[in-house]
Amino acid sequence: TISMAVIDKTGHIAVGTSTNGATFKIPGRVGDGPIAGSSAYADDEVGACGATGDGDIMMRFLPCYQAVESMRMGMEPKQAARDAIQRIARKYPGFVGAVFAVNKNGVHAGACHGWTFQYSVRRPGMEDVEVFTVLP
Ligand code: ASP
Repeated sequence: TISMAVIDKTGHIAVGTSTNGATFKIPGRVGDGPIAGSSAYADDEVGACGATGDGDIMMRFLPCYQAVESMRMGMEPKQAARDAIQRIARKYPGFVGAVFAVNKNGVHAGACHGWTFQYSVRRPGMEDVEVFTVLP
C-alpha cells in the first residue's frame, strides 16, 4: 500500500491511498482503501492521515478519521497517530499496521504496531525525500 498526503501552497490538503499487494488478495475483496477514514483522511482545517497494514481490522476503527479528529481536538500528530494505533492494538494485540499523521502546518509523525514502519517526507526545495523510521 502507498498512502500519500499533500499540502499545497494555498494550504489545501489532499490524501490518497492504494490498497493491497499480494498479502490480502482474495477475489472480490475491496479492502480498506476505499473506506473514507480507514486508510486515508484529510481536512484542510486540520491535517491528514494515511494508513497501511491489515485493512480488514483497520476498517473497523477508521484510524485515519480518528487521528485527524484527535488533531482537531488539540493532539499533536505524534500523539494522534499513537492513539489511533493503540485503539486498534488494545482490541487486536496481533494487529500489524501503521499510520502517519500530518497537521496543516506540516508537522508529521508515524506510529505502528507489529512491525517497523517507514515513511518519507518531501518539502519544497528538497532534492529528494527524507525517510523516517518508526519503531513499534
Ligand atoms: N491496507 C491494505 C489492505 O488491507 C494493505 C496494506 O496496507 O499493505 O488492503
